[in-house]
Amino acid sequence: MIRLELNGWDAHIGFSASHLLPGHYKCGRMHGHNYALNARILGEESPKGLVFDFLPLKKKLRKIADELDHKVLLAKDMDGMVKESGEYRIQIDGKRYVFPEEDVVLLDINQVTTEELARYLLERVIDDIDFPETIKVVEIGVDESRGQGAWARRKL
Ligand SMILES: [Zn+2]
Repeated sequence: MIRLELNGWDAHIGFSASHLLPGHYKCGRMHGHNYALNARILGEESPKGLVFDFLPLKKKLRKIADELDHKVLLAKDMDGMVKESGEYRIQIDGKRYVFPEEDVVLLDINQVTTEELARYLLERVIDDIDFPETIKVVEIGVDESRGQGAWARRKL
């Protein structure tokens, strides 16, 4: 088995975005990160000595990164959030936030943590890319800063 690795910091695959984690002592305040997206692919070599072409994977990760770049990331079913007159209004922990719709990306995740982002990205990558049978495991990592992140893994 061979492992291929893609480092988002070195390959310049990432995005800047803001989020908040309701109820968290520190991350409950709105703040931002420069995220990087990483990947690991485990598989068998083809007779030509290749495991997988990085190009479609990089393209897909860059596409998702562009969708999220310079946006406010919110969980779709966030408690205390309503959409009114083209705005997302959030009332939580005694505070009130209002964001114009165009600044927001709603994500189908429970909370906007790096763990959940990694799982979300892994699902999108696996939905979109046709991995050959020789590929056994796909892992997607999301770093919220250099050296700090979460990985989601799926056996194919
Ligand atoms: Zn954060």
